[in-house]
Amino acid sequence: MMKEVKTTCPYCGVGCGVIASLSEEGQVVIQADKDHPSNFGRLCSKGAALGDTIGMEGRLLYPEIDGNTQNWNTALNTVAYRFQEIINQHGPDSVAFYVSGQLLTEDYYVANKLMKGFIGSANIDTNSRLCMSSAVAAQKRAFGSDTVPCSYEDLERAKLIVLTGSNAAWCHPVLFQRIKKAKVDNPDMMVVVIDPRETATCDIADIHLAIKPGTDHVLFNGLLVHLKNHNEKNEIFVNNHTEGLEATLIAAESFAASIAAVSKLCDLKEQTIEKFYRLFARTERVVTAYSQGINQWSSGTDRVNSIINCHLYSGRIGRPGMGPFSLTGQPNAMGGREVGGLANQLAAHMSIENESERNLVKDFWQSPAIPDKEGLKAVDLFDAIDKGKIKAIWIMATNPAVSLPDSHKVQRALENCEFVVVSDCMRHTDTTKYANVLLPAQTWGERDGTVTNSERRITRQRAFLPSPGEAHADWWIISEVAKRMGYSEHFAFTEAADIFKEHAALSGYKNNPESENTIRDFDISGLKDLSYKEYDDLEPVQWPVTNKSRQGTARLFGDGFFYTPSSKARFIAVKHSFPADSLSNEYPLSLNTGRIRDQWHSMTRTGKSARLSGHIYEPFIQIHPEDAKLFSVMDNDLAEVSSVVSGQNKVVCRVNVTKSQKHGSVFVPIHWNDQFSSNALVDSLIQSNVDPFSGQPEFKYTPVNVKPYSARWYGFLLSRRKLDVINASYWSCSRAQGLWRYEIAGIQEPEDWTECARNLLCQHADKVEWTEYQDAAASRYRAARIENGRLESCIFIGPEFILPERDWLLNLFKDDLLDKKDRTSLLTGKPVSGQKDAGQVVCSCFNVGINTLVKQIQAQQLKTPEQVGDVLLAGTNCGSCIPEIRSIIKNSAVLI
Ligand code: SF4
Repeated sequence: MMKEVKTTCPYCGVGCGVIASLSEEGQVVIQADKDHPSNFGRLCSKGAALGDTIGMEGRLLYPEIDGNTQNWNTALNTVAYRFQEIINQHGPDSVAFYVSGQLLTEDYYVANKLMKGFIGSANIDTNSRLCMSSAVAAQKRAFGSDTVPCSYEDLERAKLIVLTGSNAAWCHPVLFQRIKKAKVDNPDMMVVVIDPRETATCDIADIHLAIKPGTDHVLFNGLLVHLKNHNEKNEIFVNNHTEGLEATLIAAESFAASIAAVSKLCDLKEQTIEKFYRLFARTERVVTAYSQGINQWSSGTDRVNSIINCHLYSGRIGRPGMGPFSLTGQPNAMGGREVGGLANQLAAHMSIENESERNLVKDFWQSPAIPDKEGLKAVDLFDAIDKGKIKAIWIMATNPAVSLPDSHKVQRALENCEFVVVSDCMRHTDTTKYANVLLPAQTWGERDGTVTNSERRITRQRAFLPSPGEAHADWWIISEVAKRMGYSEHFAFTEAADIFKEHAALSGYKNNPESENTIRDFDISGLKDLSYKEYDDLEPVQWPVTNKSRQGTARLFGDGFFYTPSSKARFIAVKHSFPADSLSNEYPLSLNTGRIRDQWHSMTRTGKSARLSGHIYEPFIQIHPEDAKLFSVMDNDLAEVSSVVSGQNKVVCRVNVTKSQKHGSVFVPIHWNDQFSSNALVDSLIQSNVDPFSGQPEFKYTPVNVKPYSARWYGFLLSRRKLDVINASYWSCSRAQGLWRYEIAGIQEPEDWTECARNLLCQHADKVEWTEYQDAAASRYRAARIENGRLESCIFIGPEFILPERDWLLNLFKDDLLDKKDRTSLLTGKPVSGQKDAGQVVCSCFNVGINTLVKQIQAQQLKTPEQVGDVLLAGTNCGSCIPEIRSIIKNSAVLI
């Protein structure tokens, strides 16, 4: 066993500590770090399955130019030469970097330094723009700085937690577990969930406000008015430490003056609103935690400010157990902000528009040029590529062809861009196909640096695996290009630690360390003199970390000092707003997009894991039963979803009819893309409507239409090999243990099923053992390909979606030899008697399926998830599936 290495989970913004080691068989073993203050020994399903996602399958291992493998020197020279050539011809603003919250802080720092300090343009933006830039803009407006005031421990010390626009149970699962545990330890704690959908997070909600999409700012403005009307103003705090209240109250009263008005606009019962308002008013320790459901609007910044206003008014900020708390989506969204990874920021939380801060950074970097105006934010940046204004783009660790709104336009822009460089760890993504130059980057487990989570906690991500092929750290790749562009002296980093120390030194540079209050919130100058060993051993610590506060800082603003010119926090008047696009007869439903429990972003890593892919293996649309009836779609049907920008590229996904979806709105997850499904790119439906302050797109509200997908046949296919071509008008693929599973469907029946099936399953094979059954009258076809007695692949086709039990078939692939009975049952499409189908996976950790759960719940009259855990282990490891188990218990009780 190799020694244990402490590192950090690379997925969400919780930033859980992980201990990695190698078993004697060479398998990566992942354990939760009991000492890490973010998770204290917990992991969610994604973190627990990290070991499954490490592997060489699909990796980009060597540099490529125009699809041909090249050595590093040629690739780096080409990137440097082409960028310089375009800059010389068209100026620095003709090039851009598009980076990612997946990068480590050190990578981010170097990318930002090269673009802003040496190329002399601010055209570097990050995919964090899509995730939390409205929170950044709102915090800067209110506090004068991009400061998250809270700590995770505030969630345990609070008496009331308001979760708004956050499905924490699926998107920040370990925080959800912490809240859940705190609620058990402190039965007085109340949880309010504000979300149009009844998500898994509602499992712990005392009050669920199923608000009309896009009206949360009305609810919080109404709360502000309620606090005023009930004399809940914290006089001392408001009078001494804030400004701008009067205009803010006038604005709030203009549309949310009464509970009746709020009720009407938010489509909520007056009693429920009043209950929430009273609870907020009478509870001193309140944390309002929010996420993409608040940020991803064309008025996201205002929405965040409407929350902050309530905390300022009641003085509930900067003290234990209270505050407005932005939960970031990505593992290093905050690290990126620290180094200025957004196009409207400079490094170390300094501002591009501020001349003295510009000069300070220029002076520190000894750079030839610093831009004096903001660069292009993500959506505008790709728009400029589309218009030919930006002629060279370098994309690092992200997949904009999937994740940006109007994604087909983004793809067209990349297709037509003069020079596209992509640094990635994966060879095939929807974005890498547009690259002129591909640069192989290290990934989690191989790279070394730091990340900062949602509570400002900096943690080391440490390497524990050798770098494969010729993959390099992103900071190394960027530095090598910088050297070739003539900036050797300024990019002579040899270790990630060198970069971190420079970053820490800049944060403290002329940051008035002698005064009582520093000028800038972000200050980690206490870490600037770390030795290599000290950097290696760095313990998780929350910034600011100065020489005065070496142990870090749990929360800010407790002293009432804010980073505005007056040192006072600002109330921001929030006007009533509507989504940018309205519903119409043609597009009468509002589309909401988001994450699911077991997948991460565009699935390049989590899509490798069979256990993570078993929970939900197809793109889906959730729709309320009344809407399903209205739009003629049924549960398990396929449906096509269209919007004003989709054109012919309609999204096709499986229908999930559920009352948890609000009437009039639908939900589609963000993860599926061209690598995993035929037509599932949900961002191709989204208009490029952005918030005027943050530039964050409106992913939470797109008018769409839903129609049944007129499939003539449905199919199911399992194969040990990934198929090159899938000859079906609809397909979706996912990993299973040792094989790939495909759900397929077609709008036209092939003339010859045998030929069609053989074309699919016998790719790259001359001679095969083939067995098949066809009932042409009933439109049923089954076939299996067997190799050396072992099942290699099989296909089942029928006129409806009800096809053979998947679990039984998956199990047949575990045997090395297919016996006679199994061969027969393959063709009859039925398992031999006695075999049971476990059904779709609910508990990924112990691979427990829904059928197994229902059977045991009914047979043993199990009433709680704990009882289910005792019998089946389900839910006893990471706990991410407990809300689902509770709902299965509820539904099974009806059936008993
Ligand atoms: S909550 Fe899950 S995905 Fe997020 S950091 Fe922790 S283990 Fe990783």
